[in-house]
Amino acid sequence: MQLKGAGNMEEYRELAAAIPPFVRYVLTTLEAAGFEAYCVGGCVRDLLLRRTPGDWDMTTSARPEQTMALFGNCALPTGLKHGTVTVCSGMNRVETTTFRTDGAYADHRHPEQVTFTDSLQEDLSRRDFTVNAMAMELAGRLHDPFHGREDLKNGVLRCVGEPEKRFSEDALRILRAIRFSAQLDFEIEKETFEAISVIAPNLAKVSKERIQMELTKLLCSEHPEKIREVYETGISTYVSPAFAALDWQNARVSAALPKEKYVRWAAFLRCGNSPENAVRVLRDLKLDNETVSRVKTLVTWADVTPAADEAEVRRMMSRMEPEVWDSLMELNGYGTEIRALVALIRGRGDCLSLKELAVKGQDLIAAGVKPGKEMGSMLHELLEHVL
Ligand code: ATP
Ligand code: MG
Repeated sequence: MQLKGAGNMEEYRELAAAIPPFVRYVLTTLEAAGFEAYCVGGCVRDLLLRRTPGDWDMTTSARPEQTMALFGNCALPTGLKHGTVTVCSGMNRVETTTFRTDGAYADHRHPEQVTFTDSLQEDLSRRDFTVNAMAMELAGRLHDPFHGREDLKNGVLRCVGEPEKRFSEDALRILRAIRFSAQLDFEIEKETFEAISVIAPNLAKVSKERIQMELTKLLCSEHPEKIREVYETGISTYVSPAFAALDWQNARVSAALPKEKYVRWAAFLRCGNSPENAVRVLRDLKLDNETVSRVKTLVTWADVTPAADEAEVRRMMSRMEPEVWDSLMELNGYGTEIRALVALIRGRGDCLSLKELAVKGQDLIAAGVKPGKEMGSMLHELLEHVL
């Protein structure tokens, strides 16, 4: 048997055993109909790293209409133009894409047109990084023409082919490189790293939402401190001017914090030294309102420690939702004394917000207070007293 990648039968068996039944079903069905079909990209990379893949992508010689016909009601035409059919298998979804090469990239982001091909190797060569350009058969046999396996072992992120050319085709790959280096804790190979700075201006053509999604994944990874690479490679000005202006060298974001995006963004944006600067960055990057509002609260209270006094702790807790308070305790590293008070306050069910106040608007109306501004400030005053 011809083995295209490094590996042995024992290991192939082990890898094959890690393919879940719903993916096995998709591969088996395609193969039984005479097509080639492989797991490809991130899921193969993650399997080799003994991590659980987040999603399962397949690459196949079947054309989209053939995949559609084969899976009938279970097939969704989610991206026919690019060869993608989503197959529903039980509760799960598998993205199945026809072997393809990508045509010219007019806008440095999307290929103008894709061309279907019968060659797995051609399909792998269009992929961004060597560690993302491996395919695996149902039986676990690996296809690895760009030596992704070796890079995976050495912890190296390297473009498939010429880095400058690949980043020029699609500038988003620049951010993907930095994001993967944080998620996998990999070094970016020298030539790939240098090409990032050269092609950085093309990032101006990538949408803010896409930039944000990559940065969010980076911040929520095991190595959020690698956000510094965005500055070191000289691409921060293309992220946003407010982002570039941050005092990033003093950023304190670490993997010890919860993985929620608002917590990680807040931990990083503390280095902007004001809630307004934090909000500016988040607005530039089109983050959702809830995240913006929570980050603003956390940055406002970052580095504030209440005295170990019930009333003061209550007052501070009342300024935010309970969940945000929990995150603030992590962010500010509060000790056992304050945490004990919080437990006491919560255990007793102390009133911490207007809606928990025993006195309601109705009661004030009954007492002759006019509804409106006056009543609002009176309720707030009462809450202050209670706190
Ligand atoms: P994740 O763990 O974030 O899902 P992934 O590597 O699976 O990482 P996807 O965005 O799901 O990333 O893409 C699946 C595969 O498609 C990649 O592994 C890669 O082979 C290819 N790919 C995705 N985006 C690009 C791109 N911009 N340029 C080239 N190849 C890409
Ligand atoms: Mg993926």
